[in-house]
Amino acid sequence: MRVAGLARCKNLPSHLLRMHLPSACRQMSIAAGLKNSSIFRSQGLIGGKWIGAHDGKTIQVNNPATGEIIADVPFMGRRETNDAISSAYNAFNSWSKQTAAERSKCLRKWYDLIMSHKEELGQLITLEQGKPLKEALGEVSYGASFIEFFAEEAKRVYGDIIPATLADRRLFVLKQPVGVVGAITPWNFPLAMITRKVGPALACGCTVVVKPSELTPLTALAAAELALQAGIPPGVLNVVMGNAPDIGDALLASPQVRKITFTGSTAVGKKLMAGAAGTVKRISLELGGNAPCIVFDDADLDVAVKGALAAKFRNSGQTCVCANRIIVQEGIYEKFAEAFSKAVQNLLVGDGFSEGVVQGPLINEAAVQKVESFIQDAISKGAKVLLGGKRHSLGMTFYEPTVVADVKSEMLLAREEVFGPVAPLLRFKTEEEAICIANDTNAGLAAYIFTNNVQRTWRVLEALEYGLVGVNEGIISTEVAPFGGVKHSGLGREGSKYGMDEYLELKYVCLGDMNRK
Ligand code: NAP
Repeated sequence: MRVAGLARCKNLPSHLLRMHLPSACRQMSIAAGLKNSSIFRSQGLIGGKWIGAHDGKTIQVNNPATGEIIADVPFMGRRETNDAISSAYNAFNSWSKQTAAERSKCLRKWYDLIMSHKEELGQLITLEQGKPLKEALGEVSYGASFIEFFAEEAKRVYGDIIPATLADRRLFVLKQPVGVVGAITPWNFPLAMITRKVGPALACGCTVVVKPSELTPLTALAAAELALQAGIPPGVLNVVMGNAPDIGDALLASPQVRKITFTGSTAVGKKLMAGAAGTVKRISLELGGNAPCIVFDDADLDVAVKGALAAKFRNSGQTCVCANRIIVQEGIYEKFAEAFSKAVQNLLVGDGFSEGVVQGPLINEAAVQKVESFIQDAISKGAKVLLGGKRHSLGMTFYEPTVVADVKSEMLLAREEVFGPVAPLLRFKTEEEAICIANDTNAGLAAYIFTNNVQRTWRVLEALEYGLVGVNEGIISTEVAPFGGVKHSGLGREGSKYGMDEYLELKYVCLGDMNRK
């Protein structure tokens, strides 16, 4: 990585002076260095070509830690999306006919290139999304793991032979790629939410039009550049960004798009699900959560504090599997609240490039305002702020890691995803009550329990209406396990061998008249 001289920092904008000077200066140097790197792209990718919007419109990508503009990217809409769909449709014919081994090799090469550019990709994620660099580097490895895993799975798409019911018939099942896939992804994991979809889609022989969030398109574009370098043919992977409803509508309206895969809010997911009905597309939805984290009296206190901390504060609380409600049994409540608050107090807030920082900024001003309104609502209904509860002195969108006690089920903090660094503590008496509180939500993505009782573990994990359950563990996502929710948290699964099924159609074949001479 090229390191720019201090001269670059001479004209530091006034609002940055509030930040620690070397920190703001370092951010600008890193941005300048990345722009010169071989993976930096700021145009859409259609049919293997880097392209702007047809009318030249652009949109700014900002660094949430500083507010600085990192780049301008095209503000695309229906027209560019339709071009991208056509290019994916044309590429499908040849890509789906390549052997699984050939597709696997391309994906493996893509994985290798991502890992060899891990540092730059991590920096890009920190720059446009704000998460601490160490966490961003973790996302690169996690994101790349889906490509590696599905490169291997590409070679294991087996059909079936079914014992025939009549002597002169042979029955079998073929698995074939769904076709062109529209993949819409959020800003909180700018790389991993894309690779978790594109990895299996390409492995199965599908082609894809990706629409990353307008807030974090640069990581998506860098990953697409590496896909081209890996030899993934033009048109197999296309990236458009800009007017989200227009792009979404174009994907939904096109009969050439056979599947929509979406990660994001439940509200947008429901719209897409309704919109997919017009052309009866297949649809996978990874939507919002409201994860309960249940701490029983018999839990190991240290394990519970460590697990709850990890489950709550990763990415400054901006993940769909973040513990949204920490539900603590009355016998351990006070001890837990004290130990947990101490641990939260030690979380260093700052720009993601600074040493030791574990809490970056929130993605934008709207996110901070949402957190503020949830805290206000909780206080007005009797909750007590044990720690934090306000904007951080660093300014911008930094918010203090917060612990709120005496939270009740009717408060917004318990009903909806706060999507910020706020840990609400709720109290319960019995196991039945804990299960009841945990399931009292439309969401059903991740849940966590902390207990040392084996029988209780089984009883509770079976009773929880959730797609993922962590037992004495706060970080559970991995490429080898199925990820997805129930109820309003979504449809389908990503990752693991089950993740392939989302991109495959079954074709039943009945071969008749076998005995004819
Ligand atoms: P969002 O507002 O729903 O946006 C997600 C994506 O949808 C973005 O690319 C967005 O584009 C696009 N979009 C917005 N309106 C659209 C429309 N009418 N038609 C088509 N696309 C549209 O969600 P977010 O705020 O980015 O992400 C946070 C949410 O994602 C949280 O609820 C979180 O729980 C959920 N999430 C779920 C998972 C999971 O695996 N279950 C993982 C991560 C996040 P623009 O950004 O360009 O507007």
